[in-house]
Amino acid sequence: MKKVTILGGGIAGVEAAIHLRKKNFEVTVVSNRDYVYIYPISIWVPTGEKTLPDVSVPLAKLAWKHGFKVIVDEVVSIRAVEGSVVLKTLGEYRDFDYLVIALGASKLKPQGAEHTLSICGEPREAAMLHERLETLVRRGQGKIAIGFGGNPQDQSAVRGGPAFEVAFNIDHFLRRRGLRKTFDLVFFAPMESPGARMGKKAVEKMGRMFQSLGISTRFGRKIARFEPDGVVFEDGSVLASDLTMFIPAGAGHKACLDSDLPLSAAGFVEIDDYCQVTGFDHVYAIGDSAALKGPEWTAKQGHLAEVMARNLAHNIATREEGGQDLHGYAEHVGILCVMDSGNGAAYVERDARREKIILMPFFGHWLKKSWGVYYKLSKMDKIPRLPGM
Ligand SMILES: Cc1cc2nc3c(=O)[nH]c(=O)nc-3n(C[C@H](O)[C@H](O)[C@H](O)COP(=O)(O)OP(=O)(O)OC[C@H]3O[C@@H](n4cnc5c(N)ncnc54)[C@H](O)[C@@H]3O)c2cc1C
Repeated sequence: MKKVTILGGGIAGVEAAIHLRKKNFEVTVVSNRDYVYIYPISIWVPTGEKTLPDVSVPLAKLAWKHGFKVIVDEVVSIRAVEGSVVLKTLGEYRDFDYLVIALGASKLKPQGAEHTLSICGEPREAAMLHERLETLVRRGQGKIAIGFGGNPQDQSAVRGGPAFEVAFNIDHFLRRRGLRKTFDLVFFAPMESPGARMGKKAVEKMGRMFQSLGISTRFGRKIARFEPDGVVFEDGSVLASDLTMFIPAGAGHKACLDSDLPLSAAGFVEIDDYCQVTGFDHVYAIGDSAALKGPEWTAKQGHLAEVMARNLAHNIATREEGGQDLHGYAEHVGILCVMDSGNGAAYVERDARREKIILMPFFGHWLKKSWGVYYKLSKMDKIPRLPGM
């Protein structure tokens, strides 16, 4: 049985492990967390609707169900030519025939980032956002700034959707507590039209939502730095804030930067359509770690990470059998998300042919919540998987 080692036990790594096991490979997942963190449903942690355990699945449970091994350790560097990986505790590790990079992305670090908390960073930051929000609620008033940044070297690594979701959710949370009038909510981003990747209609609808909810905006101003009490922009203007939730753009993972893998300008691993790393027969990269090719609105998303993971399992198995029918990821590049607003959601879809946004009051919120339940149960094979998921 050929051995596959997957670096990273997130959305891509877990999906790859499950599907490689179904194809009878011996699989080991190396991850610095002993659980898979389901980022898409972590947006409810700041408002206390979910706790960290609610949005996590222990890797040991998945490993037991599907028969893969888990090593909890930190990947420090990768030497793909030699076929070895350096782990923080175990040291050099080379017990594999195939290596899969599924480490996610690192984040850009703007000046003063330590004065902000991100919903897309370490899970503990989401819990800290909840604590800080509760402290402000106890005080009875405050200023909350919510925003995201760009990466000029790779537009696909910009993550704005969860910032919109957190803004709408905090608005809804404050209204439920009868405190909305005593809080200033401001949404900021350096681009003129944040969210443009989702399409024109989405930007218009988002703008109308901000207006109707009284969330003010600061768009098109480059961020100079963050301070304990606010955001300073390059034009010298200041946005005062008691709590700043900021999502920095993604950048190549630090272990990939310390590797001999081919990298894009932003540090993501260069792959072909079949997720094979350029120039390496036995190394693949999937999910947020990989450099994606596609139109300018291409986004690193969970659904694409899962498609890449399933393709990877199919492609490795097909090559082992000497077959030619490989599956590519490019045709699946597109934006697909249910963006929560606390008491509803917007279904957003964009691909080469269409852009769509459908507002789903009330029902949408529960649809997204149900997806979280579906994710957990389907990974344990407790319910059948929906086609293509
Ligand atoms: C708040 C939020 C909401 C989102 N909402 C949606 C949505 O609604 N729809 C959608 O399609 N996508 C959504 N996304 C995007 C989606 O979550 C990501 O695209 C997806 O998680 C990428 O999967 P991944 O496995 O590549 O990376 P990750 O899920 O980040 O997993 C990386 C894994 O690698 C591990 N790791 C990292 N560094 C090391 C190291 N040095 N050594 C060992 N292990 C390491 C981590 O512990 C983690 O397990 C959202 C993202 C965020 C942050």
